[in-house]
Amino acid sequence: MIFHLASIVSAFVLAFTSYQSVQAAANTFTAKPVRLGDNLLSILRQNGFSEKEREQVLASHKGLRHLFLTLDTKYLVRRTAGETELRMFDSQTSDAFRILKSGKKVTALPYNPEYKTSLIRIDGRVYGSLLGSILAKINSNWVATRFMDAYVFDMENSRDVARGARFWFTVEKKFEAGQFVKYGEVLQTSLEIDGSPVQKRFVRYKDGGVFFNAQDLLEDRPFYAPVEYIKVASRFKPNRLHPITKRLQPHLGIDFELPVGEPIFAPRKGIVVRYGHNRAAGNYIILLHSNGMETAYNHLHRIDKRIRRGLSVKAGERIGEVGCTGYCTRAHLHFAVKKKGRMVDPVKYIKPFPPQMEQLLEARVASN
Ligand SMILES: [Zn+2]
Repeated sequence: MIFHLASIVSAFVLAFTSYQSVQAAANTFTAKPVRLGDNLLSILRQNGFSEKEREQVLASHKGLRHLFLTLDTKYLVRRTAGETELRMFDSQTSDAFRILKSGKKVTALPYNPEYKTSLIRIDGRVYGSLLGSILAKINSNWVATRFMDAYVFDMENSRDVARGARFWFTVEKKFEAGQFVKYGEVLQTSLEIDGSPVQKRFVRYKDGGVFFNAQDLLEDRPFYAPVEYIKVASRFKPNRLHPITKRLQPHLGIDFELPVGEPIFAPRKGIVVRYGHNRAAGNYIILLHSNGMETAYNHLHRIDKRIRRGLSVKAGERIGEVGCTGYCTRAHLHFAVKKKGRMVDPVKYIKPFPPQMEQLLEARVASN
């Protein structure tokens, strides 16, 4: 199985390489790296846009204000006499923008890139931290954290991973106009935990998807995941010390990083016990479930209109949208679980997929 996959991957990469060399001659775009401290405005400045032109770009489309650029992505520049075109790709979402300066006219609009995608496979062993060992093989925070996301529900911490443990994964590389611009999804992973390899596969669902293996269906946990794309920005840390004040600042939930507007689902049948807005949590909802446990959802962009005190919701029913209200710097869902009056680590109580994906995943297992 592994050998079979590896040969498919290398054939794919070879086929792609020849495609790339054919395209290279006709290609007029240059790929430039996003550097530390870069943002849309500094990139525009570096590429000859005056202050007035930069303002025109920002005013063209409100999505440009949310464009998120990380160091492992590139943008494209094409320059001809009197014309400069930039193509920029959001690191987190599929959003892309084409920014054109032609004479004195400046336009900036979203567009759909025609990505060519190749797959690469990375193999390694763990020495020091797991995250550091992956970063040593591929210099991309996105890719390394996606790999970690595959095992969020399998490990409380990376102490279960022995020194020298083997890992491998495949990851998409996305090319636009013949140039590498960003990494896509990590698709298959393997990590030796307690001496045996645990493999996961990314199963797509709508815009998102989850990391999964057959074992995950057997886990007897009371809740489903409340989102369709599981990317963890911060885990449950009851004893977290603030790095500067050195004061105890516990994180009593898990943060799922998702773009503004992504749907949030009830993870189990329950009733709404409270909802509203406060300074820290922003827009929030609290559900009480039939097993006596409570779940909380903070920083919502919107609470669904139907939500009322005492309203009964089913597993998988939409209750709100991810946002960044309250104390928040980047859009995410802070999800917390309370059991017998105490906050507990959500990953021990939730399955690694939302309810609407269960049948799809069961079918995958049955067909293997
Ligand atoms: Zn949080």
